[in-house]
Amino acid sequence: MSRTVYVNGEYLPEEDATISVFDRGFLFADGVYEVTSVLEGKLIDFDGHAVRLERSLGELEMPMPMSRDELLEIHRRLVAENGIEDGMVYLQVTRGAADRDFAYPPEGTRQTVVLFTQSKPGLADSPVAKAGIKVVTLPDLRWDRRDIKTVQLLYPSMGKMAAKAQGADDAWMVEEGVVTEGTSNNAYIVKGGVIVTRNLGPEILHGITRAAVLRFAREAQMKVEERAFTVEEAKAADEAFVTSATTFVTPVVEIDGVPVGQGAPGPVAQRLREIYLEESRKAAV
Ligand code: PMP
Repeated sequence: MSRTVYVNGEYLPEEDATISVFDRGFLFADGVYEVTSVLEGKLIDFDGHAVRLERSLGELEMPMPMSRDELLEIHRRLVAENGIEDGMVYLQVTRGAADRDFAYPPEGTRQTVVLFTQSKPGLADSPVAKAGIKVVTLPDLRWDRRDIKTVQLLYPSMGKMAAKAQGADDAWMVEEGVVTEGTSNNAYIVKGGVIVTRNLGPEILHGITRAAVLRFAREAQMKVEERAFTVEEAKAADEAFVTSATTFVTPVVEIDGVPVGQGAPGPVAQRLREIYLEESRKAAV
């Protein structure tokens, strides 16, 4: 069934939605994106995603193309028109279309704004979350500004393929012996009841789910350490897990073929997933 998508002010059937071949998102990956999940027809942590969008744009000297309220309105209309119960809304903003030139186009060049939905029935009770995922480690060969959510996703895409080729589900990326993050998620370990995840900085994306999960963990009196951890530490941990907007909290049961803890989803990850889903649903818009 054809979806309604949003392109530069218009709501169109997907087959009629087009952007220019000169778009800088296409030619230079000169654009940023956000993915907001939808549960029971409502948006999870819309404000968090809108704030990060504005920050990513700012780091690339681009303005917000419209107000947060207007963005929310577009998200809601697409969810309604496409009948999304569970799924996600993808948003991309690029510097627009201009003659191909490394220099940014003249001020006033219209940014490209595209939004579309993907339906994912049963998103919150995926069998993958119950079984846990296997990860392999890979060198982190991305650029040094991973805190900006750009559409340069080729290396993470290659990482996912490399993981699959090794019979795993995903890859954790490693730099100078320590884990940065997963290809499309933030990475955590649990040891002796302490939750450890990489501290914020340009080395990782500042996950919106990460911020919420750490807040809920602290509110539940769990101990949290934001610091780098090694692959060896991760393999010897009691538990491991990842977080992202569309996978929430997902246990990791194996790292490079080594079972983590009992080789099954651990109690901390499972509890955090429950809390996250419960609290996020309550606050959904
Ligand atoms: N790190 C990377 C590299 C990602 O691509 C993502 C998901 N876009 C995340 C972390 C998780 O971020 P969020 O919780 O905001 O989805």
